[in-house]
Amino acid sequence: MEGQIQRGLYIATFGCQMNEYDSKRMEEVLYPSFTPVASPEEADLILVNTCSIREKAEHKVYSLVGRFRALKEKRPGLIIGVGGCVAQQEGERLLKRLPFLDLVFGPQGIYGLGHAVKEIEEGRGPIVLTEMVDGFEIPPILRSMPTPSPIRAYVTIMQGCDNFCTYCVVPYVRGREVSRPKDDILKEVGTLVESGVKDITLLGQNVNSYGKKRGFSTSFAELLREVASITGLRRLRFTTSHPKDFTDDVIDAMAEGPPICDHLHLPVQSGSNRILKRMNRKYTRESYLEIIEKVKGLLPDVSLTTDVIVGFPGETDEDFKDTLSLLEEVEFDQIFSFKYSPRPFTKAAQYPDQVDEKVKSERLTQVIELQKSIGLRRLSRFEGRTVEVLVEGRNPSREGELVGRTTGNHVVNFEGPDELIGQTIELMVERACYHSLRARMR
Ligand code: SF4
Repeated sequence: MEGQIQRGLYIATFGCQMNEYDSKRMEEVLYPSFTPVASPEEADLILVNTCSIREKAEHKVYSLVGRFRALKEKRPGLIIGVGGCVAQQEGERLLKRLPFLDLVFGPQGIYGLGHAVKEIEEGRGPIVLTEMVDGFEIPPILRSMPTPSPIRAYVTIMQGCDNFCTYCVVPYVRGREVSRPKDDILKEVGTLVESGVKDITLLGQNVNSYGKKRGFSTSFAELLREVASITGLRRLRFTTSHPKDFTDDVIDAMAEGPPICDHLHLPVQSGSNRILKRMNRKYTRESYLEIIEKVKGLLPDVSLTTDVIVGFPGETDEDFKDTLSLLEEVEFDQIFSFKYSPRPFTKAAQYPDQVDEKVKSERLTQVIELQKSIGLRRLSRFEGRTVEVLVEGRNPSREGELVGRTTGNHVVNFEGPDELIGQTIELMVERACYHSLRARMR
């Protein structure tokens, strides 16, 4: 890299794992002209990778970008860009709202970042990259970065979505579903594993429909098996699964064991058939429970997690009770629960029977309280047992402690030396907490 000036890149990432993956891609696209730095103060280029899935997430973005404005006032050469779903959704309007921005780019615009930054540096900004091409393919870039490789990484196997759940903005901001060719995926996972990554999560809005639309001969279950056979890969996860497309062969692949993890994240969203229909989810409470029963049958110790929306338009007390009873029936290890918030472009935002904010908040509290007791009960099954833990690093909130993860994705905290980081070790669980396990070395 002799003679080349490297400048600092700071990326603030909001939202889901898909955005985390995209932020890594931004680093790759911009390397070696820019290398990641730890704080915005050290950066020559700041990118904010946004999420518009919920209104609250969108507000956080605006307040953070506003804070970066002060840095630009001190250093006018600083380039600030906003990417991700809010950028795709708002496009040029963002430049009106935040006139100090140099760059607005959607998820497909990531691959034009190098050129766009050059243009801005040559005085041709601001630039907007939000055009969406149907059938857009993720280019197979994978540059070796100077930063140490993490223990865990994400690999996108498909992007976009064709499902149009009536509450969801994803099909509008990420476009239609496109699966990546299997060889690109295998190559990317292989390169990551060679560089030291041990735990890979395959990502997509609906991984179970992998390849169907493009007529690939490889199903998602077959892809899972092929990725699982890569030497050196310790753990393999996937998200997100859609109950309407979830097939038995995926359960069979999971039952074959490591490196495929003993964890299934299967968003249910509501326990009421009436609400599921209004959400356009295309499965019923009964068909969802049938999948869960099969999974539990083949994987008795499986860790189950889900997403729940409360206060969807028209949700009555009865509908809400159906959600509570489903949580009790399944007994998830963990849930991610949200209050419904109307999103631009979506059908549900137009429904006349929006639920009162106060009612939504009460329902959310009820769901959280119920899950606290279920989750604790579920995690208690590990007390006194030995679990296999992949050690990920130091616990940032407790000195002297390490943090790792079980195959079921449970976080485990314990005291131990740095040499264990990156290793898979057996630990004795002493106590279950709400969201984690406390353990000791044997
Ligand atoms: S499946 Fe539904 S919730 Fe998931 S991304 Fe697609 S439209 Fe959104």
